[in-house]
Amino acid sequence: MPKPVMISVSGIRGIVGDGLTPELLVRYTAAAGTLYGPGKVMVGRDSRVTGEMVRGAVFSALMSVGCDPVDLGIVPTPTVQLATERHGAVGGIVITASHNPAEWNALKLLDRTGMFLDEAQGLEVKRIAESGAFAYKPWDRIGRASSRTDAVRDHIEAVLAIPFVDVERIRKRKFRVAFDSVNGAGGVILPDLLSAFGCEIAALNAEPHGRFSHTPEPLAQNLTGLSDFVRSTKSDVGFAVDPDVDRCAIVSEKGEFIGEEYTVTLASRFVLAKKKGTVVVNVSTTRAVDDVAAQAGASVVRTKVGEIHVAKKMKEIGAAVGGEGNGGVILPEVHLGRDAPVAVALTLQAMAESGKTVSGLREELPRYFMAKKKLEIGGADPDDILKKMGEKYASETCNWMDGLKIERPDSWIQIRKSNTEPIIRVMTEAKTAEEASRLADGFVREAEVFAGGRG
Ligand code: MG
Repeated sequence: MPKPVMISVSGIRGIVGDGLTPELLVRYTAAAGTLYGPGKVMVGRDSRVTGEMVRGAVFSALMSVGCDPVDLGIVPTPTVQLATERHGAVGGIVITASHNPAEWNALKLLDRTGMFLDEAQGLEVKRIAESGAFAYKPWDRIGRASSRTDAVRDHIEAVLAIPFVDVERIRKRKFRVAFDSVNGAGGVILPDLLSAFGCEIAALNAEPHGRFSHTPEPLAQNLTGLSDFVRSTKSDVGFAVDPDVDRCAIVSEKGEFIGEEYTVTLASRFVLAKKKGTVVVNVSTTRAVDDVAAQAGASVVRTKVGEIHVAKKMKEIGAAVGGEGNGGVILPEVHLGRDAPVAVALTLQAMAESGKTVSGLREELPRYFMAKKKLEIGGADPDDILKKMGEKYASETCNWMDGLKIERPDSWIQIRKSNTEPIIRVMTEAKTAEEASRLADGFVREAEVFAGGRG
């Protein structure tokens, strides 16, 4: 089981009532505010029942170190990122545990550009929180709280303004669009966004009350409700988003889950047809992205897993598009963060332009299958297991960017340790589901042997 509170360079995350306390939240927020320095800090939250409690701690801590918190209310993570960048803030905080269940909450910390804090900044926040070196201000210099109600509208306008999204063309198609926002923050943006695109809306779990009606991660096994709903409402497409609306998975008009890896694949293919440039994705993202990039004469750069790694690389090289295989699409025209509304807009535009159905578009994409397995390793050293695996497969193409990835002509196997649990994750991709599964099982067995010291 995961620990009730996890403190790392990417912030603080835990279960409310079982470790994630106001004291801890105040400590970490005061540390972030100390790093930011005085100025406006945009604060948004997803729909979790505990969001207001956490907001109270966050506001108090920010004001105590001279920051001026600006409450954006219940909004998607990318909405806070955009607002932080656009309103001259010194930083931003999103109160969300992303795709984790309702009892969890967490803080996502943003720098003044609206990008997540990088590892060095995260380490600095952790250091300040642990040492207690907070920049507390005297009574006449504490911060002032305020609020804004225009963040969602601004975000929608930014999406509608994407140069290769033709709103009129989409409106003419009068798509019927189903979505499942799992009672998260998606309910505050998707209806207005889809209305702007002239869509007829079929909404499922749209009310943002934070009592998630199913396991919130946008994976096939959690989205059977949406598949049935797309069929029963005869919708042209279905979109599933996670509670903080940075990940988006697509369901076809036939009710088929097309796979979260295909959100960024479809988006990359579409964007590369409009402009030249490089695609940046993480090392675990499907090879289908390499194939669509090659077809467009473009190249792909891979990074470690995590939005900040992808976003930083995109900024550094001026990439055309990027994201992660978990349903996260990043389009620099809007901002450098994973953004489900962007994914929705690009998908609708691809449908409108091509005149094809979602399953028709899916059929044109290269077909790969992934398998994801994990192994409990108890007290065994995960780094030692990885090292031994690396030695065993040293004659093959081994990539050590994030764990060990063995790259073969028609498949790959990635073995990573978890930073939060005593487990090893094995992820594979191959041309058939059977082969992906066979590879994953085989590598789990091998890791098991090394974990038992019998290798
Ligand atoms: Mg998320």
